[in-house]
Amino acid sequence: MTFRIPLLAALSVMALFSVVSSTVLAHAAESAPDPATGPLATPEFGPVPYDPAHDYYSFADIDAFVTEHLVLDLAVNFPARALSGTATLRLRPVDANARTVRLDTRDLVIESAAVRPAGGSFRPADHRYGRRHALLGQELVVELPEGFEPEGPFELAIRYRTSPGASALQWLPPELTSGGHHPLVFSQSQAIHARSWVPLQDTPAVRFTYEATVRTPEHMIAVMSANNDPEAARDGEYHFEMPQPIPSYLLAIAAGNLVFAPIGEDTGVYAEPELLEASAWEFAGTQDMLDLAEKRYGPYDWGRYDLLILPPAFPYGGMENPRLSFITPSVLAGDRSLVSLIAHELAHSWSGNLVTNRTWRDIWLNEGTTSYLTARLMEELYGKDRADEERVLDWNGLQADVDTVPARFQALAADVLPSDGEGPQQSMYYAKGQFFLEHLEEQFGRERFDPFITSWFETFSWQSVTTETFLDYLDEHLLRAYPGIYTREQAAEWLYGPGVPADAVAPTSATLEASTAAALGFASGETALADLDTGAWSPQATVNFIERLPAGLSTERLAAADEHFGFSASRNAEIARAWYIQVAKRRYLPAYPAMEDHLARHGRMKLIVPVYQALAENGEDTALSHRLFNERRGRYHPITVAAIEKAFVRAAAPVAP
Ligand SMILES: [Zn+2]
Repeated sequence: MTFRIPLLAALSVMALFSVVSSTVLAHAAESAPDPATGPLATPEFGPVPYDPAHDYYSFADIDAFVTEHLVLDLAVNFPARALSGTATLRLRPVDANARTVRLDTRDLVIESAAVRPAGGSFRPADHRYGRRHALLGQELVVELPEGFEPEGPFELAIRYRTSPGASALQWLPPELTSGGHHPLVFSQSQAIHARSWVPLQDTPAVRFTYEATVRTPEHMIAVMSANNDPEAARDGEYHFEMPQPIPSYLLAIAAGNLVFAPIGEDTGVYAEPELLEASAWEFAGTQDMLDLAEKRYGPYDWGRYDLLILPPAFPYGGMENPRLSFITPSVLAGDRSLVSLIAHELAHSWSGNLVTNRTWRDIWLNEGTTSYLTARLMEELYGKDRADEERVLDWNGLQADVDTVPARFQALAADVLPSDGEGPQQSMYYAKGQFFLEHLEEQFGRERFDPFITSWFETFSWQSVTTETFLDYLDEHLLRAYPGIYTREQAAEWLYGPGVPADAVAPTSATLEASTAAALGFASGETALADLDTGAWSPQATVNFIERLPAGLSTERLAAADEHFGFSASRNAEIARAWYIQVAKRRYLPAYPAMEDHLARHGRMKLIVPVYQALAENGEDTALSHRLFNERRGRYHPITVAAIEKAFVRAAAPVAP
C-alpha cells in the first residue's frame, strides 16, 4: 500500500476522539487506554507479555481451525449501500477436539449459520456475537452442532449483510465519480477492514483461495482481486476465481461503470470511461515494469496484472490487491512523473502478497521491502538520478519521523504492548525498512544481495512470516555466508532499536542539492528567481525546493515563488501537497482558496491529512480546519475521515517523546 499514512491510523471509524483504542501501528494522542474499550494486551485478547507471533487484531482462533477456501455469493445493493449474500468458509480443523469457530466481523448483520461435512448437507449451527472492541469489531462465535464430526475440512456457510457504514466500503454517489451518472463502490480491506464486508478469520497469518459470484445492476461491472475477464459480458452477474492463497487483507471488490483498455500482453487498466485514455497513457510502462520485476525477483505467479483507477475518494495512493492494484487518480500527472507508485504496487506482488507479514507488528517486511524494490525498479527503468531524488525525499521524511515519533515506536518491529496506547509509528516502516535493506546491499554488494532477496521470496512464497524469521534467514544466508562484513547485532539494531543506526549513509542527489541551493539562495535574496535554471527540474526537485524554504520567509517572497513556479495552479499532486502543507504551516493566506480546492479535489490521505493537521496546528486555524473538514467529509472514505479526526486529536495534544 502507498503511502505515508499508517495503515491502521484509521482502523476504526468508531475509535475517534474519545477512544484511544490501542494498536502498535496506529497513531493518535497518547493517553491512558479507554476503559470503554480496554487494552488489547490482556489474557482476553491474547498472550501477555506481548507475543510477536500472536495477532492481537483478530478474534479468530487459528489454533482450532484455519480457512482454506472462501466462496462468496454477493449482491451489490447501491440504494441500501449494502452487500448481502453468503460467505462459505472451508475450514480445516487444527485441533481435533475444537468445537467452536471464532470469526471476525464489524457491523455485519448475521442472518444464519450452517455447516456441512465434505459431500454432506447443511445443518444449522448456533451462532452468537462474542467479544466486542471498538478497534477490532465483534467476534462471531459458531458452535458445531452435536453429532457433527467432520473428518477433515468442512464448510461453514454464513448468510449476512453489511451495514451502510462498513469501514472497508465506500459507496460513492454519482456526483463523486468522474462520470457523474452512476454510483460506484470499492473496498479497502487492509489492515483489518475485510471483516466489515465478509465474516472471516481476518488475520494475515491465514491464507486461503477464493471464488465469488457478484451481482450488480445490469449496466455495471464488478471487479475483484481475482481473475478479472476484460471480455466479460456486462450482464450484471460476474464470476471470479483466485486460485492463489491470499491473506484476508487482499480481498477486494469494486463495482461501477468501469471500462478496460489493454496496456501490454498481461497488463491493462480499468477506469471510468472519462479517465480511461489518460490512465492508459500515464501507465503505459506497466508491462515493462512487470517484465523487469520478473527478471530481477523471479516469476510473477499471479497471472494478469491490471490496474483499477478509482475516483479521488480512494484513501491511499495504491492498494496492491493481487492481479488488480487499486490506484488513486491523483497520480495522473500527465507526464508519467508519479509512476513510482505503480512500481510500488507491482513490487508488492513479491513482498507482501507472496511473502506476507504474519501480524501487523511486522508490516515493515511488507512495506519496507516493497519500498526497497520500488527504488531498484525505478533506478533500472528511469535512471539512477530519478531514483536518487525519490530516495532523498524519503530519507528526509524518515528524518522528520525520527524527530517526532516517540523513541519506543521507532523500531521496525516494535514490541509495543497495545495497552501502551496508540503507536504513532507514522510511516517509519516504509523508509526505515527500505534504507535497512539498502544498507545491507551496500555492505554485501548487489552481486550477493540480489540472490539473497530472490531466495527469500522463493523460500517463503505463500507464507506469512515474522521479523524473527527474516533475521534468522539473513543471519544464515548472508551474514554467516560472508563472514566478517556485518553482524546479527548490527542488523538487530535496525529491527529493534530506535532511529537510524549511525553507520547508515544518507542518499544524495545532485539535482536535489541544486534545488536546495536554489531555495536557500532565493530565500536569502542572493538569487533572483528569474536566474534560476528550473526548466529541467523534475516534480521531485520542485517538491524539494518547497520543503527547503526556510521558516519565516516573508509573504512577499512566498508570493513571488508561487507566481514563478505556479505552485497554486499545479495539477501535480505531489507538488500541490508539499505546497499546501507549507501554505497552512506558514498561514500564507493568498493561497487559502486554492488550498480549500485542493482539500475538496482529493480524498487520498497522503495529500490532505497533513494539510488539515498543519492548519489545525498553526495556532490560528483550528476552527477553519474543522469547518473545511465538515464541509468535505461526505466526499471522503470512512478511513480518511477517521485519519483526519485523529490528526485533529494529534494537533490538540501533540505526542510527547
Ligand atoms: Zn505498499
